[in-house]
This record gives sequence, structure tokens and C-alpha cells, in this order.
Amino acid sequence: MNEIKLLGIPWDADSSYLRGPALGPDAIRAELARARSYSNMTTELGLDIGRPGVFSDAGDVDVGTGDETRTAITAKVGRLLLDGHPVLSLGGDHSVTWPILCGVHANVGKVDVLHFDAHPDLYPEFEGSRYSHACPFARSLEDGFIGRLVQIGVRASNETQRRQVERYGVEQVTMAAWNGPPTVRFDRPVYVSVDIDALDPAFAPGVSHREPGGLSPRDIIATLQRLQGRVVAADLVELNPTTDIHDLTANVAVKLLQELVGLLARP
Ligand code: MN
Ligand code: MN
Repeated sequence: MNEIKLLGIPWDADSSYLRGPALGPDAIRAELARARSYSNMTTELGLDIGRPGVFSDAGDVDVGTGDETRTAITAKVGRLLLDGHPVLSLGGDHSVTWPILCGVHANVGKVDVLHFDAHPDLYPEFEGSRYSHACPFARSLEDGFIGRLVQIGVRASNETQRRQVERYGVEQVTMAAWNGPPTVRFDRPVYVSVDIDALDPAFAPGVSHREPGGLSPRDIIATLQRLQGRVVAADLVELNPTTDIHDLTANVAVKLLQELVGLLARP
């Protein structure tokens, strides 16, 4: 099996409300180091991801201006995939997903996307920016990077975003329609994008946009465990350590990281 690489993206300049997610990668790393003491590195389905060769840290993307950062993200993700490494990117705000998918598309072609989020992130532009963290899936759909987009946990969507859902045939399992973890099956290679604000703020207060009425960690884990398809890359974004309480959100982020590494390690 090819070693999975964690890639930190300390970037939050495309956040629309609060800064802080740039501190996310290091907060996740610190909690991961603690988890090696308070937990064990075995996924719920029994894969020991603590063994050498399962996953390692590829460090951070060098960030600069927006254009420089996006180019660097695409290049780094592309290089890791070209070398045969499944990539788990650690955000950073959600704007990073479009340049990540540029790199994925260059290596893998079109992917199907499983996207957990309170928000659809489908704005054609937001507050004058096409690269806002409210826009990455609009850019990715326009560019033809995505086959099917399945969004889980949406509960803050307006008319503009609903028009985009219709325009691009986005599939949503909204909280209003929530009936337990769905079984999602994909035929193309799969990209999983986890915005931590998909979780209810009771479980994950450390985000920039708290939206009550959300998913539990179990809901996300069960959906991941039921996912049918070959996962080639993933991201875990929008952890904001400046609003976290006793590292609760970093804690749940590391739990999700473990399960995502397990998915990426699946044959
Ligand atoms: Mn998002
Ligand atoms: Mn969100």
C-alpha cells in the first residue's frame, strides 16, 4: 500500500467572517500527538494506522498571496498523487478545496465528491471574491472537476445556492430531510471533503460559522463507513482553534482524521 500523506494548508485569508483556520493544521497535529497517548491508532473497522508506512506528515504548503497559495496547493497535491500517495489535506478554510481538486483532476480526472458541510459553498461569488470559502464547489463544477456532488448536513442554504443546486444537479441530504446516515455509492474515484461545521456546534464549537442543528460525529463516521467507492484523496477543513473549547473540536477532528486515513487505506 502506498503511504498516505497528510498535507497542512495554513490558509484562512478567504474566510468571510473570522480568521483562525490557518492555525488548524498545527492544532490537529498537536491533538494527533496527544491521541497517540490517550487512544490507539486503530480505526473502528480494525485497521492499525499507527504502523509505520500507513501515513505520514508531508508538512505544510508554502502560503503567500492568494494566487501563489492556490498554485502551490495544486502543485503539491499533484506531486504527491503523481508519486502514488493518497492525500489527506488539513485546512485551512474551505477555499483550499478548489485548488486541491485542480491537482486531483490533473492526476485522476473527474471525481465524485462526498461533501459534509452546514453550507453548500456554491456561491458564484461571495462578497466580491470568486475564491471565497463560500465558492469552492461552484468553481470545481464550472471547471468540470466533479462528476457527482453529494452534500451531507446542509442547513444554511439560500435562493442563490438553491439555484446552483438545480443548475448543476447537486445531490443533497439536508438536515431538514435527515433520516440517519445514508449509504452513498459512487462509480468514479471519490474525493471526500469534510467541513467541520457540518457537525453540530455542541460537538464542534471550534469553527468560524456555528450552525446549530447539525450532525453528530457518529453520523459522519457511519456515513464514511458505509461509503461505497474508491477514495483517492480527502480534506478536513475549517477547524478554528481560536473558537475551540478545551480542544474539543481538535479532538473530534483527529477522530475523523483516523477514519479518513482508514478510508484512504482501503484497497
Ligand atoms: Mn465549507
Ligand atoms: Mn461550512
